[in-house]
Amino acid sequence: MEQKQKQKLFDTFPEMFPNTVNYRGRAEIACGDGWFHIIMAMCETIQQDYNFRKSRWETSLVYKGNAYWTEAVCADAEKAFRGVGLPGFVQIKEKFGSLRIYADGHYNVPFVEGAISFAEHMSTKVCEKCGAPGTLRANNWWRVSCETCEPTTPDAA
Ligand SMILES: [Zn+2]
Repeated sequence: MEQKQKQKLFDTFPEMFPNTVNYRGRAEIACGDGWFHIIMAMCETIQQDYNFRKSRWETSLVYKGNAYWTEAVCADAEKAFRGVGLPGFVQIKEKFGSLRIYADGHYNVPFVEGAISFAEHMSTKVCEKCGAPGTLRANNWWRVSCETCEPTTPDAA
């Protein structure tokens, strides 16, 4: 992936790409540019969920006892946020044709696992080179490519 795109991920999600995540510094991102938007969308999904949980809990502290913010609703908001963190990505790479995403284990939310799984699976449908709809191909080596980048029936002309 181009450095410009990596830097965009680092700048947009500094908490998920801390420069202390491993001995090499920031997460290693080793895949084609075509998957940039999958990784971006995964990070947005995780960040939005985290922000929502945090905001709901903070609001519950302010309005506790009001008509909507009953004891039970406030307890639920606290439970949904307590112990929740953002993942720190360690390594994002292509392996056997699709994305593999490794994060540290302190985020404690099945939602994050789901977002990561979705991104990994989505990569099997998107050309790693250009981002167009693609197919997982397995002759010689595994990769996902589109008909433009890798025609299955090359034009005889
Ligand atoms: Zn392509």
